[in-house]
Amino acid sequence: MVSQNLEIERVEIIKNLRRRRTISAKVVGGVMRVSAPGNISQEKLSGIINKFKQRFKNKKVKQELNQNEDLPAQAEKLNQRYFSGKLNIVSIEYVTSQNGRFGCCNYKNKTIRISHRLAQMPGWVKDYVIVHELAHLIEPNHSKSFWDIVSRYKLAERAKGFLIATQQGVLLD
Ligand SMILES: [Zn+2]
Repeated sequence: MVSQNLEIERVEIIKNLRRRRTISAKVVGGVMRVSAPGNISQEKLSGIINKFKQRFKNKKVKQELNQNEDLPAQAEKLNQRYFSGKLNIVSIEYVTSQNGRFGCCNYKNKTIRISHRLAQMPGWVKDYVIVHELAHLIEPNHSKSFWDIVSRYKLAERAKGFLIATQQGVLLD
């Protein structure tokens, strides 16, 4: 697979005097084209452009991770192994928007989101986070029965220790 360029090589600013407030940006082939009102201050504009760049980069990182790693297949494998294939997982994907957590599960919608930071971690730690989130499809809270389910994964305690050691203060939800 060809890796896509994550960098924006150039920013083009198009000032439009008729434009009042809205600023928009579009990225085509490494060029970010920003349309802004004519009277905007340089300072304000560069702040907004930085935000656009960050957003674009996050989007790219997310796309790449989800393309390169088949999280749904891995989740299904763990579903078979630890839940007898009984779970219904609507979606599982990497996201870049979770700075405070490694994963989260929407119990109602049966959707799971995994932090992009986990992509760098060993497979057995990733599997723990996936099993943890899968267990939330059965038990939304961190109850005794929840942890009983999670403990089916033999490396759960070790993985918890690993996550605590590498990411102080970051929790699973
Ligand atoms: Zn949890």
